[in-house]
Amino acid sequence: MTTILTGAASRRGFLGLAAGGLATLGAAAPARTAPIRTNARIVILGAGAGGTAFANRMVRRLDGASVTIIDGRKDHWYQPGFTLIAAGLKPAGYSVTKTTDWLPRGATLIAEHAAAIDPVGKSVTTTGGQKVAYDFLIVATGLTLDWGAVEGFSTDMIGQNGIGAHYYGPEAAAATFREMDAFVSRGGQALIGRPATEMKCAGAPLKLAFLLEDMATRKGNRKNVSITYTAQNKALFGVPIVSEKVRMLFGSRGIGVAYEHVLKSIDAGRKVATYATPEGDKELGYDFINVIPPQRAPQVVCEAGLSWADKWVDEGWMEVDMKTLRHLRFPDIFAIGDVAGVPKGKTAASVKWHQPVVENHLIAQIQGKEGTEAFTGYTSCPLITRVGRAMLIEFDYNNNLVPSFPGIIPPLEELWISWLMKEVALKATYNAMLRGDA
Ligand SMILES: Cc1cc2nc3c(=O)[nH]c(=O)nc-3n(C[C@H](O)[C@H](O)[C@H](O)COP(=O)(O)OP(=O)(O)OC[C@H]3O[C@@H](n4cnc5c(N)ncnc54)[C@H](O)[C@@H]3O)c2cc1C
Repeated sequence: MTTILTGAASRRGFLGLAAGGLATLGAAAPARTAPIRTNARIVILGAGAGGTAFANRMVRRLDGASVTIIDGRKDHWYQPGFTLIAAGLKPAGYSVTKTTDWLPRGATLIAEHAAAIDPVGKSVTTTGGQKVAYDFLIVATGLTLDWGAVEGFSTDMIGQNGIGAHYYGPEAAAATFREMDAFVSRGGQALIGRPATEMKCAGAPLKLAFLLEDMATRKGNRKNVSITYTAQNKALFGVPIVSEKVRMLFGSRGIGVAYEHVLKSIDAGRKVATYATPEGDKELGYDFINVIPPQRAPQVVCEAGLSWADKWVDEGWMEVDMKTLRHLRFPDIFAIGDVAGVPKGKTAASVKWHQPVVENHLIAQIQGKEGTEAFTGYTSCPLITRVGRAMLIEFDYNNNLVPSFPGIIPPLEELWISWLMKEVALKATYNAMLRGDA
């Protein structure tokens, strides 16, 4: 189904809310310059965080271009909210809006998924069989959660028998909270971990472990609750100084760690999970488990031959330049967001910083110039450590901490202000980004 968008985004009234560009997603709003005249056909795959923001920016920056967004999902999900839903702090509806609420007037929405990309012939074919030609293609499809890779698990198990999976969606995050709440009343063993692949928001499972511990403490049943975090390697986070800080906090909070444990399968009847470890498969019993599966580039990207051949071989991330996000073999294709094959940055905060970079290089190409902007790997993770406390972790490709408020908000301290960034400011800033205003 194709829709020409004629109504202005209904949430423009909130514009002022994120003014000041609170640090969790980045800094100042883009400069307003005179639109550039072009008849370029720009096709954007995915109307999530990255694609929606880019569509808004393109409509504003270009005059005469055709901007087409292809995405079959009717709801827009504010995924950073899933953690707050899983903590019982927000209802499932907190993360759900309509895709069309955010898209700009004048763009065309094809409400289907992309089924095939022809990077040589420069066209996309949708699931409904529509062929859409492009001059520039922006791949912003996010990533695929490979639920089938965890043997014995299926998503209809979420919210039953001590099984949570807050990555699956807003309702699943709410069901995860109900299971966590029942678990902390009952007591027993909890297992929380992450996959061995690259993943979006690598801090999210750490946050869940901290929040579960906090829930048990507040319920007065901490002594009957045991929590084990299963790490995929020998670290708790990709940035060594943050990993060490989390290790110390887990120690002080009595959260155990099983290193080099990768979830392989679940036997829901026996309440036993099997992990691949360097010593072979190992079984751990649980009373509550949160499943986060391996994560990969969507099939359409892999089948189009857009993936790296020699990196992340089973994961399929797009072969783009880490600074410009431009495809290395198909210069008219860019990646924005989680699908990009770059060493850091699968967060909404990184998506914010992808925008000006891709915009700069695309517009430079239209004008026959060289782009100048570079993505630094900026990644941000407001790492919640309990209700009312978080650490505002921001870093770059080189694992340097790059705090937005140096000297004011220390990144490795558990602060109420950092909690507010996550709980209040992040959504307003995210929404401003969607509108192309941040
Ligand atoms: C539990 C959780 C907590 C998080 N916490 C944070 C946080 O605190 N801070 C932070 O910055 N980030 C956080 N994130 C990460 C953040 O949500 C993502 O990094 C961000 O949404 C990525 O944006 P994207 O545009 O790449 O993908 P998405 O926002 O996921 O959008 C992808 C879109 O592409 C569409 N699509 C998929 N396949 C196709 C196709 N074949 N054709 C057309 N369209 C397609 C989808 O329908 C979807 O609309 C969290 C994520 C999760 C799951």
